[in-house]
Amino acid sequence: MTSKELYEKVRGAGSVEEVRKIAEENGVKLDDNAAREAFDKYCGKKELSDDELDAANGGCRKGPSVVCTVCGGEMELVQFHVYDRYNDVYYSVYECTACGHVYEG
Ligand SMILES: [Zn+2]
Repeated sequence: MTSKELYEKVRGAGSVEEVRKIAEENGVKLDDNAAREAFDKYCGKKELSDDELDAANGGCRKGPSVVCTVCGGEMELVQFHVYDRYNDVYYSVYECTACGHVYEG
């Protein structure tokens, strides 16, 4: 895998440990220093705006804005970048601020 591909994978990570885990899942061994370096480089909070920090909720990638399918209200990101081991995908959990409808995607 190229460093660009690794970057695409780990830029959503919320911690150094997560960077290392994602890298390892993709066949790249990172020691503590390398993982921290990658986290600082790819997920450094200093490069994010306040909006992105709010939206990321612990991660470093801004989630898409989601509209409630029930009432059309604003969906709030409640869980970011959850790993679904069974389907091998990441998803986020949103909750409608108006009616409480929960959406995973
Ligand atoms: Zn709603």
